[in-house]
Amino acid sequence: MNIATADSRLSEAEESGETIKDSAFMREALALAREAWAAGEVPVGAVVVKDGLIVGRGFNAPISGHDPSAHAEIRALRDAAQRLGNYRLAGCTLYVTIEPCAMCAGAIMHARIARLVYGAPDAKTGACGSVVDLFAEAKLNHHATVESGLLAGECGGLLSEFFAERRVQQKERRGED
Ligand SMILES: [Zn+2]
Repeated sequence: MNIATADSRLSEAEESGETIKDSAFMREALALAREAWAAGEVPVGAVVVKDGLIVGRGFNAPISGHDPSAHAEIRALRDAAQRLGNYRLAGCTLYVTIEPCAMCAGAIMHARIARLVYGAPDAKTGACGSVVDLFAEAKLNHHATVESGLLAGECGGLLSEFFAERRVQQKERRGED
């Protein structure tokens, strides 16, 4: 009885430690999303983590890179694969502020990411349940478990603020004409 209680307390402590770590990595992804905003890009950020260390970072940059595939997740996967010298990122976790699109979900599967953690859902392009759920498709061979909602308010809020600011700027520009 006592042992069982001690065990359950231990697992609770481990779980909360895991949550703290997850939040810390998502905050790194949020910092990258702010870098995207500073560069005039839609603010999305991502990090790849292996054995508790960040091995890849990326923020959204399709406009500046003249590259439709330069989403935060793709750039973080490329960064991690280069650093690890392996196109397969087995055992890695990808943290991203916004629900991945179909392209990024595909790349996550090809990279064999073990765990995907995203913040806010994306009603327009989300491919992890919002528009489609590619990870629920049994015919697609993937290795990732998917978790959502981590710091969702901050992750989604950043995006809403960005678009609100852009609408104001566009209105001002129209006013000047
Ligand atoms: Zn994407």
